[in-house]
Amino acid sequence: MTVQQAVRLGAMTGERYVDSLRDGREVWLDGQRVDDVTTHPAFREMVRALADVYDKQNAEYRDEMTYVDPESGVRTSLSWLIARSAADSQRKRRNSQLWNLLTWGQLGRSPDVLAPFIVNLMNRRAAFGAASHPRCDFAENIAGYYRFCRDNDVFLTHALGDPQVDRSQQPQNERRQVPEDEEIALHVVEETDDGVVVSGGKQLSTAAVFSNETYVSLSQTFYARNDPRFVLAFSIASNSPGLQILAREPVGRWFGSWGHPFQMLDEQDCMLFFHRVLVPWDRVFFLYEAPARVMASSGPSGAELNFAGWANLERALFRFRLLTAVATLVAEAIGVIEFREVASKLGEMVANCEMLRLTMDGIEHSSRTTAGMPGQGPVAVWMAQTTWRMTELLREICGSGIVMQPSENDLANPEIRPSLERFMRGKDVDVEYKSRLFRVAHDLAMSSFAMRQDIYEYWHAGDPSRNRINLLRAYDQSDITERIKDMCSRPLPHGEVP
Ligand SMILES: Cc1cc2nc3c(=O)[nH]c(=O)nc-3n(C[C@H](O)[C@H](O)[C@H](O)COP(=O)(O)OP(=O)(O)OC[C@H]3O[C@@H](n4cnc5c(N)ncnc54)[C@H](O)[C@@H]3O)c2cc1C
Repeated sequence: MTVQQAVRLGAMTGERYVDSLRDGREVWLDGQRVDDVTTHPAFREMVRALADVYDKQNAEYRDEMTYVDPESGVRTSLSWLIARSAADSQRKRRNSQLWNLLTWGQLGRSPDVLAPFIVNLMNRRAAFGAASHPRCDFAENIAGYYRFCRDNDVFLTHALGDPQVDRSQQPQNERRQVPEDEEIALHVVEETDDGVVVSGGKQLSTAAVFSNETYVSLSQTFYARNDPRFVLAFSIASNSPGLQILAREPVGRWFGSWGHPFQMLDEQDCMLFFHRVLVPWDRVFFLYEAPARVMASSGPSGAELNFAGWANLERALFRFRLLTAVATLVAEAIGVIEFREVASKLGEMVANCEMLRLTMDGIEHSSRTTAGMPGQGPVAVWMAQTTWRMTELLREICGSGIVMQPSENDLANPEIRPSLERFMRGKDVDVEYKSRLFRVAHDLAMSSFAMRQDIYEYWHAGDPSRNRINLLRAYDQSDITERIKDMCSRPLPHGEVP
């Protein structure tokens, strides 16, 4: 991004956002370097969708999506607000709801979900500042970076994991044997007067193509390294020299005239390759030593604050409600909603929606204000376990209609139209409405876009197995286990022996 630290442009606008992506970034797709992501057919719909939200946050939703920051006096997105009261948290939640309303809850890594990563850093900067380095003060770096992002409403991507090359030879494994010049994971190559030079790969980085800045850190799986060269967190511009962004096969490209509104919201997932990339000293957040208290905070009550998780749950709730609404309309459109089994499946979907909503209300009411929301680890685990069930239920209710619908060109052709009207209409609905409704279901539960969304939901909070294990380790159940131990230390109570 070409924005300078001293510049304060405030809430992002659509035009400014599109311009910011024309910055010479090195994006690769299908063996070709992409000149301009804003015009390339694989990316332009997504750029347009984001620009549209940015415009709306400056117009009809200005009061609900932006605020004037008391420190800088700049009007910017509420995603950057550090909540200091329950009312602040509610404003942030409303902003998240609008982001999801405007993008149909399909963007796992929207600007609203990524901004809180930096907000969280800001809140925890004292823990980062506890580690020292002769060239920089990590707490000061975080504060400066937060202000830069807030005052320019920067869109971030983040990358926390190592490439999936050989998980048995990773920097956190004790008996690894990798020659220095074959290191895969991102690591420090050298220190210079200007900053630290890094090389290596990161897997994955959702929305990297569309981001202004790239935030790099370590997830819980990766932070406990045996070699300090691999312990680092920083943020750099997404067009930094030496940073290659490899985009995956798009899931939003379609030929023909069927029309698929959600598939156009392909946020992309990318590999990042760093080739001797310079990270300026004021962009480094930890180096050689991860702040253990911060990295290890998980579990039912461990996380001090987690607005990133919160914005993400708001998105997940919208997505669950969308899946349920489409399933309900499909069941009505083919006359199966009165069938007991179908109604029961819809009821299961409603139960999942309400479970999530009630949990979020509970979290909001028990949150510590300045410290944000309490731990959401259990909800993330439940989400990962439940998401596939939701799409499975939608598929089950759709039957074969999810695969077999006419296109807009079929509908417009007078020769075939009479057959479509007769054989492909629904119960009390015409063939146009019915086919479009099923195509929406196709987007959500059958397409490669749908499968990517499901895979995203399962993995995005980290390996669910690891998260479950972390939950268990942090879960204090001694009040019951001690009673059981005590009960079992003597013969169990029983009635009269006859
Ligand atoms: C669509 C999508 C988007 C994503 N976006 C982002 C992003 O924006 N930023 C980001 O940082 N990350 C992102 N991720 C990465 C995500 O956090 C990881 O997928 C997740 O942490 C799992 O790591 P992995 O994919 O490397 O799988 P691996 O760790 O390679 O796991 C492969 C298999 O091995 C098992 N396994 C691995 N290690 C062990 C072990 N030690 N013991 C036992 N079993 C093990 C796993 O359970 C799994 O079955 C994204 C992932 C997906 C799928």
